[in-house]
Amino acid sequence: MKRYVFFALLGMLVLSGCSYSYTENDSVINVLADSETEIMNHDGDVADDPAIWLHPHDREKSLIIGTNKKGGGLDVYDLSGKRIQSLKDGKFNNVDLRYGMQVGGKKVDIVAATNRTNDSLALYGVDPQSRLLYPIAARTISTLDESYGTCMYHNQKNDTFYVFVNSKSGEYREYELFESNAKVDAKLVRTFFVGSQPEGCVADDETDMLYVGEEDVGIWRFGALPQSGDMRVLIDAVKGGHIKDDVEGLALYTLADGGGYLVASSQGNNSYTLYNRKSGAYIGAFRIVDGVIDGTNDTDGIEVTSQALGLQYPYGMMIVQDGTDAPSGKQNFKILRMEKVLDSLHLAY
Ligand code: CA
Ligand code: CA
Ligand code: CA
Ligand code: CA
Ligand code: CA
Repeated sequence: MKRYVFFALLGMLVLSGCSYSYTENDSVINVLADSETEIMNHDGDVADDPAIWLHPHDREKSLIIGTNKKGGGLDVYDLSGKRIQSLKDGKFNNVDLRYGMQVGGKKVDIVAATNRTNDSLALYGVDPQSRLLYPIAARTISTLDESYGTCMYHNQKNDTFYVFVNSKSGEYREYELFESNAKVDAKLVRTFFVGSQPEGCVADDETDMLYVGEEDVGIWRFGALPQSGDMRVLIDAVKGGHIKDDVEGLALYTLADGGGYLVASSQGNNSYTLYNRKSGAYIGAFRIVDGVIDGTNDTDGIEVTSQALGLQYPYGMMIVQDGTDAPSGKQNFKILRMEKVLDSLHLAY
């Protein structure tokens, strides 16, 4: 716990020197990416949000799944960054997944994505043998106008799966997934509002909490249960806090007994902020700078796991959307060993 004292002292030193505003005064650590995915096959702002699928038996066969909002749908990559599947099903914006929903008499890992072509919720199963995604939605599941961000939540106590979908208007909807003739359908169970445009979100299945980014305002924590209501807690603010708008992707690095970190994309200053998972307290920030692999800018979505993914990623992985890949000038996703990030901020893992 000494490291928290260190950061608290650092914060006080910064505060004592001048009037406080976000990162210009915060120390931001530089780290290097370890790898990157193949580039997107269209120009401009194409890639948006990643997810990480953990293979059930052989973690080196795990997958990176990224949205493609121009070429259509989802791109699936192996851990070396090689593209192994492209689903051209629409303009997909955000993607998330959860493990082991009972469908058709077996446990199926479910991938959910927002399809902005027809404002619907796209759903896929993952075949662990072929490592390919296959459509599993029972019908075209229309959600809300200008559907934008999405994240999934698994209530472990009653084994129920949910998908959150938000729209640019600030509306959030929570859908409960259910089996329908060996496919997956969804029903609306909750609506709430954040006030202005949200996008990134992440649910903590162990604490039944939902973290929500309101792009120009900050990070909020809501309850994830359908009966949680509108109660929310501000975790960080664009105004007077540590994050620079837009607030974009959110992800969780989970440790035992509720430990770990919330990670956010602070898009406005090309950095990533970390918070204590238990208290929500700000810990520090880093950016990904040019090395053998180029650094990142204008990041939309991120994903993080604390699970080992083979010898190369023994303490988990972070995936970061890169607004401008070098030398291609297109976009892709950067891949980082998570212990490097945590070491640089003197954090436990
Ligand atoms: Ca973008
Ligand atoms: Ca995601
Ligand atoms: Ca956004
Ligand atoms: Ca770059
Ligand atoms: Ca590159």
